[in-house]
Amino acid sequence: MTIPLQSSVVYGPVASRRFGSSLGINLLPTDAKFCLSNCLYCQYGWTDRDEMRRSKLRPARELVEEIERDFSARSFRGGPVDSITFSGNGEPTLHPELGKLIREIKPLRDRYFPKARLAILSDSTRVHLSGVRDALGELDERYMKFDAGDAGTYARINNPVVPIDWEALVRGLKALPEVTLQSLFITSPVDNSEGESLDRWLETVREIGPKAVYVYTVSRPPADSRVKPIDRNRLARIARQVKKAAESPAFVY
Ligand code: SF4
Repeated sequence: MTIPLQSSVVYGPVASRRFGSSLGINLLPTDAKFCLSNCLYCQYGWTDRDEMRRSKLRPARELVEEIERDFSARSFRGGPVDSITFSGNGEPTLHPELGKLIREIKPLRDRYFPKARLAILSDSTRVHLSGVRDALGELDERYMKFDAGDAGTYARINNPVVPIDWEALVRGLKALPEVTLQSLFITSPVDNSEGESLDRWLETVREIGPKAVYVYTVSRPPADSRVKPIDRNRLARIARQVKKAAESPAFVY
């Protein structure tokens, strides 16, 4: 069983090893997973294009009002907030007013949780668009999905529901300031953790030149029941290979 969708705009805080006490921001509908990827390991199950077409994105004005009410109430109650992360029920960059939302949420962060870092978890499918890159550039941290170093492995693992130009995706990642990559490894039904797939991934990570790379594996029930995690030792070995071959700091989480 995959997990249910987030039912609100602000959720958490979630205790995260990477982010500390992290509030999530869901700019997306609450009645459908809203994503252009359809990753075999997705914790929310499969992407359904018909459901996506039926569901509605809310305007920035409404979302910002709700976020301000939530932040105000939370700051009054107290409790640490180390980061505020755009994530939620799919891919946050699909909101057409992302730039405006970030610009209006930043002052709310400054007012209510001034120590919190503003971050995003993105599937990288829209990073080829300069407007999306401009919006992402306004955040403190950009955690971009990058599970495969070639178009074939990408298609099999991330399984996008629209045609994605993989080369343009890589160019977009290279053009982002201080990008952090997050890469998930599995051994079945596709194995991206060794052989040619891993070599090509290492080469492309080196080309992108990220600020850091986080490697991990599945820990929640995946959309495809055939998905198998890799063990921690293999993850640690991949992190060492990133440091050596791609010359980037790498962490297992
Ligand atoms: S990018 Fe995230 S939400 Fe979208 S299908 Fe992949 S794992 Fe699921």
